[in-house]
Amino acid sequence: MSYTTKILFSMFAGILLGSMVNLFFLENELVSFFIQFFSILGAIFIASLKLMVVPLVFFSLVTGVAQITDSSKLGSISLKAILLYLVTTSIAISLALFFSNFFNIGSGVGLITNVEFTAPSPPSLKEVLINIFPTNPIQAMANGEMLQIIVFSLIVGLGVRSLSTNEHVVNFFISGNNLMLKIVEIIILFAPIGIFCLLVDIFSKIGFSIIYDLAGYFFLLVCVLFIHGIFVYSFFLYFFTGLHPFIFYSKLKEVIFFAFSTSSSSATMPLTLKTARDKLGVDQSVASFTIPLGATINMDGTAIMQGVATVFISQAYGIDLSVSDFLMVILTATLASIGTAGVPGVGLIMLAMVLQQVGLPVEGIALIIGVDRLLDMLRTSVNVCGDSMIACLISSSENNLRKEIFYDQR
Ligand code: ASP
Repeated sequence: MSYTTKILFSMFAGILLGSMVNLFFLENELVSFFIQFFSILGAIFIASLKLMVVPLVFFSLVTGVAQITDSSKLGSISLKAILLYLVTTSIAISLALFFSNFFNIGSGVGLITNVEFTAPSPPSLKEVLINIFPTNPIQAMANGEMLQIIVFSLIVGLGVRSLSTNEHVVNFFISGNNLMLKIVEIIILFAPIGIFCLLVDIFSKIGFSIIYDLAGYFFLLVCVLFIHGIFVYSFFLYFFTGLHPFIFYSKLKEVIFFAFSTSSSSATMPLTLKTARDKLGVDQSVASFTIPLGATINMDGTAIMQGVATVFISQAYGIDLSVSDFLMVILTATLASIGTAGVPGVGLIMLAMVLQQVGLPVEGIALIIGVDRLLDMLRTSVNVCGDSMIACLISSSENNLRKEIFYDQR
């Protein structure tokens, strides 16, 4: 059985078993005991992936930057990455707003819900900007502050590059990077078990019945995620690089399965990075920078959810949004998706920021919270596809994408 088949099989088995438990055995104490067991194993699997994120980003980014010979390249890679993130995210929200208005998704929805939601206060833009720069790298790493870690690694990478005559320093980072990738490979071997346990746990808690109550919202969101994740990305990929979208998705399938099962761009990041480099042919200098950055700030799937949810809540409450409100939604949802951490459920919390900005009731989030866990799995899959697609675009524009690796079918 190939590795992908094993993962697919464990996903299928996990969803099936979890859903059966949810339907028939929820009250059974023995079954609950086993679910606890799966939940612990699943949590350990996610923890072991997250464990690798900080050291992998650090070593891989330092090595990547140290290998860039022309300093202006770093500037052009960052600029292209940020520009592409902004463009694709704006397209994502615009699609979300267009389709949800077209189908009037929230009108006629009953506002009865027994879940309460209290909005946390979002940080100010000034705070967000200042927080990108670390004052203490150890603290940044300990707290998993990804943007700060990226900035610190860039600085160290530049330092290592200027010491390139000192082979020991350079070799230390290259060996460190290889070591991290090897550990990631070992952890990934356990994925079929980890994914099975995660999915049994999740589906035993959510079940599918909740979808009926919010079918319009749920299916519209799934369609827009699909349109963006497949058609928009394929268009960008084919138009700018000439690469075949079908091969792109087939090489990315394990990353998509990981993102779906963990609902976390951040936990999936080690595998996304490895896949970008080893299967898509993205150059180390581009992948090591764009993949961690993308996993932190590029979240098109999340932005789509925020767009659809905003229209849904406004229509459910019968509050009309003006054209300037919609522009405001595009702006704040872009910022909110940038500010969303790559972990489960944060996109929904950041939605509060968008709603507040256009004067919609934040309690409206309670209406959609029930289906969010399932949708989070799908939007995270779109998020990681976006990061990988943009990495390919940038590597191709820098003329260092290795097409022989991309087209290698082994
Ligand atoms: N779970 C998403 C991710 O990790 C973030 C979110 O939308 O909640 O990409």
